[in-house]
Amino acid sequence: MTGKLIDGRAVAAAIYKTIKQEMIVLKQNHNIIPTLAVVVAGDDLASHRYVNMIEGKCREIGVSSQIHRLPSSCSQEELIELITSMNQDDQIHGVLLQLPLPALIDEKEVNSQVKAEKDVDGFHATNVGNLFLGDNTIYPCTPKGIMRLIKSTGIEIKGKNAVVIGRSNIVGKPAAIMLLNENATVTICHSRTKNLKEHVIKADILVVAVGKTDLITSDMIKEGAVVIDAGTNIVSGKITGDVEFDKAREIASFITPVPGGVGPMTIAMLIENTVEIAKKKCK
Ligand code: NAP
Repeated sequence: MTGKLIDGRAVAAAIYKTIKQEMIVLKQNHNIIPTLAVVVAGDDLASHRYVNMIEGKCREIGVSSQIHRLPSSCSQEELIELITSMNQDDQIHGVLLQLPLPALIDEKEVNSQVKAEKDVDGFHATNVGNLFLGDNTIYPCTPKGIMRLIKSTGIEIKGKNAVVIGRSNIVGKPAAIMLLNENATVTICHSRTKNLKEHVIKADILVVAVGKTDLITSDMIKEGAVVIDAGTNIVSGKITGDVEFDKAREIASFITPVPGGVGPMTIAMLIENTVEIAKKKCK
């Protein structure tokens, strides 16, 4: 068997097409242009690259973006003041606080200031609680994108054995809860898991979010599994995932490439969340 590629760029492109149509309706019927405000503080290169990508994609799609680039010397009070003003600004629908923040700033404290209704990243305790309760909420972007990729294969999630490797608050844990909410039987593995292969081999749906090249070798994968690789690693200047891709593809029914799988979905979901928040405002 050669697994079909799950093309994240194509899935994201279809989502952008829908978003553009929804934006026409929002503009025509309610005179609303979805607006995303982003705060990036300090000089973390990867953060600035990511924020530049967000800015470029917003421009391309027609979502308005306000990017605040603050120096490492900015104070916690300054950040909180900026977020408070964004919370109060009716023209702003989504607020994204890009992490990490400069070392002396209490990241948790500043992040908690983002109003739950504008928390476009889905990390606010209220939104995390809603996710846990199985209620409708603003879903965190990468796991939301992972679920879309799984659904794009057409497989039924209900009753499947899903194994998630990684338990971070931004990818692994929410992905596991989302799969559980869709009635999969979910196993979560992490760095202390013993005999990783014993768990992975049972996965009908395998989500890997670790950050270790070739952690998952082809002999660990169940015949016909759907494999979603969120891992992003740089090896000899090239981006790779956590799954030994070429050999795993021979065993899986569907598999995401890296790059071009989960990656393009994260910004697509960020923009979709911004538009969804703007749509809620009209109701
Ligand atoms: P993270 O916070 O570092 O979490 C990594 C997780 O992997 C932890 O739960 C850790 O377990 C687990 N782990 C580490 N070594 C392991 C091992 N040998 N076996 C099993 N589990 C192991 O990372 P993250 O933020 O979730 O990101 C994970 C990967 O996804 C990274 O490569 C990141 O770059 C990528 N990512 C991609 C996107 C995208 O848009 N494409 C977005 C976010 C993240 P413990 O909890 O026990 O330490």
